[in-house]
Amino acid sequence: MTLAPGSTIGIVGGGQLGRMMAMAAAQLGYRCHIFDPHRRPCAAEVAAEFTRAAFDDEAALFRFAAACDVVTYEFENLPIGPLSTLGDKLRPDTRSLAVSQDRAEEKRFLAGVGARVAPWREVDGADDVFAALTELGAPILLKTRRLGYDGKGQAWVDEPGDAEAAWESIGRQPAVAEARVAFDAEFSLILARTEAGETRAYPLTRNQHDGGILRRSSVPAGRAIEALRDVALRSATAIADALGHVGVLTVEFFACHGEAVVNEIAPRVHNSGHWTIEGAHTSQFEQHLRAILGLPLGDSGLVAAGATMDNLIGSDAERWPELLAEPGACLHLYGKGEARAGRKMGHVTRLGPSRE
Ligand code: AMP
Repeated sequence: MTLAPGSTIGIVGGGQLGRMMAMAAAQLGYRCHIFDPHRRPCAAEVAAEFTRAAFDDEAALFRFAAACDVVTYEFENLPIGPLSTLGDKLRPDTRSLAVSQDRAEEKRFLAGVGARVAPWREVDGADDVFAALTELGAPILLKTRRLGYDGKGQAWVDEPGDAEAAWESIGRQPAVAEARVAFDAEFSLILARTEAGETRAYPLTRNQHDGGILRRSSVPAGRAIEALRDVALRSATAIADALGHVGVLTVEFFACHGEAVVNEIAPRVHNSGHWTIEGAHTSQFEQHLRAILGLPLGDSGLVAAGATMDNLIGSDAERWPELLAEPGACLHLYGKGEARAGRKMGHVTRLGPSRE
């Protein structure tokens, strides 16, 4: 199935990923329709249509889907039931959502396709936290099974005396406990997969986090990470194939003593791929659209010696006058209102050899 320019792409979720996807769609002559519960989601400002409704409002979702030629999503914490009624119109389908929105399911799935993950245990109470500490060795990281992002819903546990407080701090929700990975670096692999099973990957991207939030992504990723390309590509391709994924898929890895350990997957375009807008021949947003529209995949190669993307978080975005004045700095602001601490307000990409 090929959807020609002029078709309407539905995007569930109206954040910055949807916004940049809608901008890529407009460049190719497609229209976008955003579905989001908020009053003025930043993606709706650059799209042709906007439906404001709750993600679990089946009637609204049905009307929205009827007005679109294909429907995709820009974040994974969506109710599966209502979306599964969209059938073939939904790309990627609900299998990719189901696996990536529950950390325990995700880890079982990853192990099943032969990807390496950190040792982990399911946690359903403070007693399980104690047991995990003994079995995995301190420290462990508690992560809620669902709805965690940017380090939210996570707590480190260093000793048995912290177990109760950590369980309390994540809201006493079903969780996983992970052994700490003493990683040398973090990186991601972003690839697109078509309905026919063709895949195309971007260069590995090195990611630097602070407080659980991505701060900087850079390519080339450096020799130690590049050495893991084959194994990372095999894992990511096996994941995409096993899901029957159509669209962009992101796999986040730890580089640890020469091994690629999967941290998590995202069934979508990703913050660590924003550099592709200026730094690759085809951006991750356009590549995702090409895959779900049945178009040929684009060239994912670099257009320069490298690229570095820095997130503008909270008040960082106030630096916009200075960034606009900087030669070669490509500024993106997401048009969000309030610059709350930890909120991603924009990013800036600079082409050229990686900066440390
Ligand atoms: P996540 O929400 O799972 O992506 O975690 C956010 C960040 O926390 C990661 O990018 C790492 O920097 C750190 N992190 C997550 N899991 C682990 C782990 N098992 N060991 C060490 N650091 C971790």
